[in-house]
Amino acid sequence: VPELPDVETFRRYLDATSLHKEVVATDVDSSRILGNVTAPELARELKGRTLDASRRHGKHLLAALDDGGWLTFHFGMTGYFEYFKHEEDDPEHDRLRLSFDNGFHLAYVCQRLFGEVDLVKDADEYVRRKELGPDALRVDFERFRELMAGRRGMAKSTLMNQKILAGIGNVYSDEILFQAGLHPRTPVASLDEDALRRLYDAMVRVLETAVAARADPEKMPRDYLMTHRGPDGECPRCGEPLKEIKVSGRTAYFCPRRQGKRPAGD
Ligand SMILES: [Zn+2]
Repeated sequence: VPELPDVETFRRYLDATSLHKEVVATDVDSSRILGNVTAPELARELKGRTLDASRRHGKHLLAALDDGGWLTFHFGMTGYFEYFKHEEDDPEHDRLRLSFDNGFHLAYVCQRLFGEVDLVKDADEYVRRKELGPDALRVDFERFRELMAGRRGMAKSTLMNQKILAGIGNVYSDEILFQAGLHPRTPVASLDEDALRRLYDAMVRVLETAVAARADPEKMPRDYLMTHRGPDGECPRCGEPLKEIKVSGRTAYFCPRRQGKRPAGD
């Protein structure tokens, strides 16, 4: 599932392939991925336009059109971009295709149709309407501490709550908690200053490392949890078998030795 580092990688891919080229045609394969815009409206609004810049907020990507609007992308469970020239390279599950005046196409690929593409006037308004908290890579420690203050939830669910902090999902919340040495069910309210600092530092380090690795687990440090995450996984730092639990309906993996005892009441 695309999280902040994946979407940042898509953003850079979009920048490297698709900016400043005139859109000559738009094809929508499934209108289920469209937000408040219809396929004919999208085709009419995009024809003759260029994408001039991009911006990411959490797991959302916004591309600025040369006439002032924004084309927005959310990648759902399985989304990504593919830039190609020849029909035979058209990826399967190509839900939206922008064709450019240089003969190339940008495909928004989304097998499971949980993603969303939309056209909006104002990027900030879009972020407000989606009720997104600040981007996880754009908060300093002071802001992070304010965001965590007074929360009643568990550490994992709080990190994953897009209304509090945008960008972190199931895999990266596990990684951040692993590196901070915190049990996924730790109540946020129980974290003291040192633990909050550890959590914040782990969040920034993990997200920056993943962005630098282009969100490719193969390029992550070998002692990261994510490449060992799974039912038969072992902790890459101490060899202990990983534990699997449900936290707010999501599957969490953690090292029972490094990430402490179960919080009271668990
Ligand atoms: Zn361990």
